[in-house]
Amino acid sequence: MNLLLDVKGLKTYFYTESGKIPAVDGVSFQVNKGEVVAIVGESGCGKSITSFSIMGLVKAPGKIVDGEILFGNHDLTKMKNKEIRKLRGNEISMIFQEPLSSLNPLFTVGFQISEAIKLHQKVGRKEARNKGIEMLRKVGIPREEKVYDSYPHELSGGMRQRVMIAMALSCNPKLLIADEPTTALDVTIQAQILQLMKKLRDELDTAIILITHDLGVVAEMVDRVIVMYAGQVVEQGGVFELFADPKHPYTKGLMKSTPKINELKEELQAIRGTVPTPSDMPKGCRFHPRCPYAMKKCIQQEPNLRELKVNYQVRCWLHEEGEVVLNELEERTA
Ligand code: SF4
Ligand code: MG
Repeated sequence: MNLLLDVKGLKTYFYTESGKIPAVDGVSFQVNKGEVVAIVGESGCGKSITSFSIMGLVKAPGKIVDGEILFGNHDLTKMKNKEIRKLRGNEISMIFQEPLSSLNPLFTVGFQISEAIKLHQKVGRKEARNKGIEMLRKVGIPREEKVYDSYPHELSGGMRQRVMIAMALSCNPKLLIADEPTTALDVTIQAQILQLMKKLRDELDTAIILITHDLGVVAEMVDRVIVMYAGQVVEQGGVFELFADPKHPYTKGLMKSTPKINELKEELQAIRGTVPTPSDMPKGCRFHPRCPYAMKKCIQQEPNLRELKVNYQVRCWLHEEGEVVLNELEERTA
């Protein structure tokens, strides 16, 4: 596989009256061509700000203060707004959680899709219309010509999300960033939308970054998982490895709080405590106030993100010296 996106040591800070807020604090990861990567973590861990940084959508008082975002021959952190805007939609597209707020209520779906197509491809009105209708068909919208001439409010939430996906993909982007794309939808529609994204990935070979707080949705559709906590990556690895044997106590906690389809009766354990405010980060390991395994060292010293094996990294003192004491610890705390 070859490299499409290379995020290196990204820091995105917000400067407010109450001080500096390190929302994204030294994040590194890569996405290969056609790969589907999930960024998971609770709200407030920096997932969305990471994607906004890639899209060039960080607004004052936020600012990228360090790091590189390499995409093809470009470092996105160094590009002018105008250049980024050109890339956005053409090579990188984004879909958001609530499509009603991203679609303009005053214009028909078709108008918005064809405008997007006309903006990025040099085609006339008629051709843009045909392409737009074809995209609607591709994302599984029935009676696509009628939908094309409808207003957003005339469609259901699931249909609107399909329209957003059609719009995002209408210019054949190399990378699609989907930020909680199914959260506002009911479970059946969620599954359909994820299924659809997966199918389109296979057809169009678009790489996808799927941002979600719900580990349940990633298992079936992603190749790799990046777990973020308090503005940092705490674990990353292939989806099978990570699901079979999560290393970081935070990832373990997330998995325990995710319902499994065939284990509905099992009581879900939420992770105790809450995500720290970035302006008031705990010393040492940022997860230590919530971690059932915290040791003295964890309170004093911050662990590094460490390569545990090929393509697998974890940030935790328990994994600092090779394979781990975690199983023993688990027996003790059980
Ligand atoms: Fe828990 Fe310590 Fe690992 Fe942090 S470094 S996750 S506190 S065991
Ligand atoms: Mg978010």
